[in-house]
This record gives sequence, C-alpha cells and structure tokens, in this order.
Amino acid sequence: MKHPSYCCQKCGEQIGWLGRLLWFIHKCKRGGEAMKQEDAMPYFLCVMLGIIIGGLFGGCTGVSQMKQEAVREGPAEWVADASGMAQFKWKEAKP
Ligand SMILES: [Zn+2]
Repeated sequence: MKHPSYCCQKCGEQIGWLGRLLWFIHKCKRGGEAMKQEDAMPYFLCVMLGIIIGGLFGGCTGVSQMKQEAVREGPAEWVADASGMAQFKWKEAKP
C-alpha cells in the first residue's frame, strides 16, 4: 500500500513533511520489525551527542585542573579583574 508523501509510509497517518523528516517523534501505529533499525537512530544520535558534550566538559575540567595545579605549584595565580572575577594569570618570570 502506497501512502501520500506527506504521510507516514508505514501507518499512513498524516504527519506532514516535517513529520517525515522528524519521523522518530511520530509514534507509529505500525511499529513492526522494519521500524526497529530506524528506532535505534535517535538513541545513536543521543549517544553521539553525549560523547561530544562529555568530551567538551571533560576538556574544560582538564583545563581548569591544569590551572589549579599551576596556581598551587607557583607559576600562576588568580588575579581579581575589574569586575572582581578571578582571572587565571601566569606569573611573570622573575629575572
Ligand atoms: Zn506511522
């Protein structure tokens, strides 16, 4: 059975072009074997997003740890800027 292009090709429900594009938010009435592979896609995207976000946050944490380490070891310090926010600053090399 062929459904119009603006309808879900599986259940024939009118979901529109955006619905076809964002098929994963359409709760298909015909969730058969054929749907399973497609169903995995949003989860895959979520995992990818999680890895990317995790990587970004991990990177930030790594940098701030490095800064704290540098301050504790001596070559850098926290300096209050004009607005009173702590700014990371490398100490000038003493001659
Ligand atoms: Zn459907």
